[in-house]
Amino acid sequence: MKKGKKIHEGKAKIIYATHVKDLVIQYFKDDATAFNNQKKSTIEGKGVLNNRISEHILSNLSQIGIKNHLVKRLNMREQIIKLVEIIPIEFIVRNVATGSITKRLGIEDGTVLKEPLIEFCLKDDKLGDPLIAEQHILAFYWASKKEIDKVKKMILRINDFMIGMFRGVGIKLIDFKLEFGRLKVNGKEEVILADEISPDTCRLWDSITDKKLDKDRFRKDLGDLIPAYTEVAKRLGIEDGTVLKEPLIEFCLKDDKLGDPLIAEEHILAFDWASKKEIEKVKKMILRINDFMIGMFRGCLLYTSDAADDSLRVDLVGRRIIKK
Ligand code: 5GP
Repeated sequence: MKKGKKIHEGKAKIIYATHVKDLVIQYFKDDATAFNNQKKSTIEGKGVLNNRISEHILSNLSQIGIKNHLVKRLNMREQIIKLVEIIPIEFIVRNVATGSITKRLGIEDGTVLKEPLIEFCLKDDKLGDPLIAEQHILAFYWASKKEIDKVKKMILRINDFMIGMFRGVGIKLIDFKLEFGRLKVNGKEEVILADEISPDTCRLWDSITDKKLDKDRFRKDLGDLIPAYTEVAKRLGIEDGTVLKEPLIEFCLKDDKLGDPLIAEEHILAFDWASKKEIEKVKKMILRINDFMIGMFRGCLLYTSDAADDSLRVDLVGRRIIKK
């Protein structure tokens, strides 16, 4: 997939054109903003985690028949998505009252709602995404009655599915924001789920401790945002793609019959497969080779990873190389 020019840059993502008319690339940035852009920062690794988590949730939703814009994840920060005309409404879904609703209506923080509450906000940064009624949407033709009814049905299914998915991994889904877009399919206009679903757009609390595992860690200066998002990814079973702080060297016994089992350095010494001096020399060489290879592949826009599109993969001598 050839990346074309930038079409749109938002607070957390950039959209690029591709050589295919109806497909675009969604790039997840590390930028974090809150309170209508008044608070800003860059949190290294956030985009990578949101890309993975959003991919996981949207691909699971598509398996239960919720149509959405995700085509496939391309690499650590990018996914191919269908180009849609975004409906200019943020759909907020609340299961537990917290955040803006508690301030706006004086509802006690943590009140469990009898039924999910859907709120509508006009998607307009300059106006601070004001809360609106369904009647405003109809009065100003931001969406039709048919579209709103369709979206509300989809939202309730998405909410039920996500509550279950998170409950299964010890997380309470407190509230979240969704966006939808219009797409022409065989001459007919359809409304599909768009944007992202991630800890940036949801409030997620640990089921037992109520620890916040979402963007409130940034909004409220709680710190440790990356460990919290990583925890969400881990619990959802998304483990690979984690960027290691330092290169990790593992040893496997070269024995096809045994399936090249993982061994410790002690095994190597115990069975005289290599001497301590040899291992130390090899480890030093490995670190230099690794640094060189990272540099070389980075330089020609390739990187080694499991996290990529098969069609963009070239296997060089048993090594997985991904075109960026
Ligand atoms: P609140 O209205 O309480 O601030 O937010 C309700 C939910 O919607 C939260 O999960 C929050 O993360 C999400 N949300 C509302 N507006 C936005 C927005 O403009 N950007 C993002 N990322 N999330 C939003």
